[in-house]
Amino acid sequence: MSVLEIRDLHVTVGEGDDAKEILRGVDLTVRSGETHAIMGPNGSGKSTLAYSIAGHPKYTITGGTVTLDGEDVLAMTVDERARAGLFLAMQYPVEVPGVSVSNFLRTAATAIKGEAPKLRTWVKDVKTEMAGLEMDPAFAERNVNEGFSGGEKKRHEILQMRLLKPRIAILDETDSGLDVDALRIVSEGVNKTREEGDVGVLLITHYTRILRYIQPDFVHVFVNGRIAEEGGAELAEKLENDGYAAYVKGSTEVA
Ligand code: ADP
Ligand code: MG
Ligand code: MG
Repeated sequence: MSVLEIRDLHVTVGEGDDAKEILRGVDLTVRSGETHAIMGPNGSGKSTLAYSIAGHPKYTITGGTVTLDGEDVLAMTVDERARAGLFLAMQYPVEVPGVSVSNFLRTAATAIKGEAPKLRTWVKDVKTEMAGLEMDPAFAERNVNEGFSGGEKKRHEILQMRLLKPRIAILDETDSGLDVDALRIVSEGVNKTREEGDVGVLLITHYTRILRYIQPDFVHVFVNGRIAEEGGAELAEKLENDGYAAYVKGSTEVA
C-alpha cells in the first residue's frame, strides 16, 4: 500500500523578473489501487505538475510538499524517486543515442531493483510485454526514442511501466497522437497493470477519450494551476459535453 500526497504545491518557472507561478496550491492524494484522472485545458499546468513530481530542474518548488509513504519526494534525486517506486516516463531523456530499448530497460530495472534481473526471465518478460502491446520484436534493438513515432513513444512508455512495476505511475498525455487502435492497446496495458497489482495511477489528459478505455475512480478538473473541481467518473462525461469553459471563466475571475 503506497500513498502519494501532494499538499499545497506551488511551482514557478523562469528566473528573477521572468519567474511565473504556474502551480498555485495543488492538493492531491493518490493511493495504490486508485486511478485518478487530471483533466484540464492546455496551458493549465498539468505537465508542470508531472515535471515537478519528476524533479525536472526547470521547475522551482516555492511551497508545499510531495511525499510518498511519508518520505519527502522533493528532497530525492531523480534516481531516488524511481527507486522509491515513482514512475514518470518523462524523467527520461528525449533521445538516448546508442542505447537500445532492450539495454535501456534492463539498466532501468537494475537501478530500481538494486540488482540485475535474471537474463533469461528478463528476455522472456520483455518479449511477452512487447507482444501484449503489439510491438514488433525488432523494436527492442532500436535506440531509445531515436526516430520513434508519437505512437511508438507512448508504447515505449507503457512498456517501461509494465516492466518496472512502479507503485505510483504518472502518465502525461499518454493518449496524445494515438490512433484508436493504439489507444486501445496502450489502455489495455495500463488496465492490465491496474488489475495485476497495487499500482496508483495518475492519468493526465486534455481529452476525455482515453477515459472510455481507462475508467478513473476520481476525476480532477485542473484549471489555472490548481484543482477547480473533483468528482467520480461521471465528471469526465460532464466535461465531454460541456468542456472547460465554466471552470476557466470562474478561475479568471478569481485570478
Ligand atoms: P499543460 O500541460 O496543462 O498544457 P503546462 O504545464 O505545459 O500546461 O504549462 C503551463 C504554463 O506554464 C504555460 O503557460 C506554459 O507556457 C508555462 N510553462 C511550462 N513549462 C515552462 C518552461 N519550462 N518555461 C517557461 N514556461 C513554461
Ligand atoms: Mg497555497
Ligand atoms: Mg501538458
